[in-house]
Amino acid sequence: MWYPKRAVPRAFLTVTIDTECDKGAGWRVEKPFGFRGVTVGVKERLEPLFASTGAKGTYLVSGEVMDDPASVEVLAAAKADRGSHLHGETVPPDAHVPDVTNAFQRDYPEPIERAKLTNLTAQFTRVFGRAPTTFRAGRFGVGPASLRILHDLGYRVESSVTPHMDWAQAGAKGLAFLDAPSQPYHPRWDDAGKVGDCPLWEVPITIRKSWKNSLPVIGNRIDPRWLRPTRASGAELVALAKDEIAHAASTTSTASTSPRAPCVLTCMFHNVEIVEGKSPYAKTEAEARRILGSLAELLAFARREDIRVIGLSDVPEVLAS
Ligand SMILES: [Zn+2]
Repeated sequence: MWYPKRAVPRAFLTVTIDTECDKGAGWRVEKPFGFRGVTVGVKERLEPLFASTGAKGTYLVSGEVMDDPASVEVLAAAKADRGSHLHGETVPPDAHVPDVTNAFQRDYPEPIERAKLTNLTAQFTRVFGRAPTTFRAGRFGVGPASLRILHDLGYRVESSVTPHMDWAQAGAKGLAFLDAPSQPYHPRWDDAGKVGDCPLWEVPITIRKSWKNSLPVIGNRIDPRWLRPTRASGAELVALAKDEIAHAASTTSTASTSPRAPCVLTCMFHNVEIVEGKSPYAKTEAEARRILGSLAELLAFARREDIRVIGLSDVPEVLAS
């Protein structure tokens, strides 16, 4: 053990995978839709890795994937947790095959956002046989109406908050989580990035600042550290996980969680990142295997340190215990 066990809360890890149709360079959507990110990525690469390390993955599934019977079969058979993920372009009303899924759901008028989330949720319940309780917005685009709609639809966990990030440069002026807590909390009804009294749990993605972020001028143009294997080595992911556990131990309370609340680490990436040619991040099989290898190192660390890899939908129970 690298830390004195009694001094820190128990820690858990969730590995959340935004599960979408195949993309390519510049995130351009493959046409017609392809799903090798599911039939190869989930079935042949992720599920065997999770099985060999005793981990439970969490697939946050986009609407177009649920329209594909072969993908549904793979995801239904996986010994995994499942939740929903909205890319508004692929869900009615006005569903279509976009060039790029670049919509932020917070930009839709409330009745349209509500209709899309209602349809996505009904589709999930139809194909997987139970209602989803966990959700992430495409492009992290959660907005002021989103939590009320998710609550009305029976969700318990929202996971779109990206601490220290401002998405203005990505085309979403005002979508920023600069001061958001890094551990789970109850959010404000109209702002998922702030602590409030909405009964949903906000489970933010584990993101911490790096020393480079405090450099003058360029500091705020450098991405903080994400618990995401896309660009990080296994060693970097492990170091970040340790830093977040130490942070959670040193913080007596994040306003809505008790001082003894366990630490929850939330890793994220996309299913398409671990299959060559299906995202901008892995053009070759070696690049896809490198991303998968970083994830494997994080899972090996979790196993060594007795950090259980749980589903996102298990988080409320863990926090209540
Ligand atoms: Zn997505």
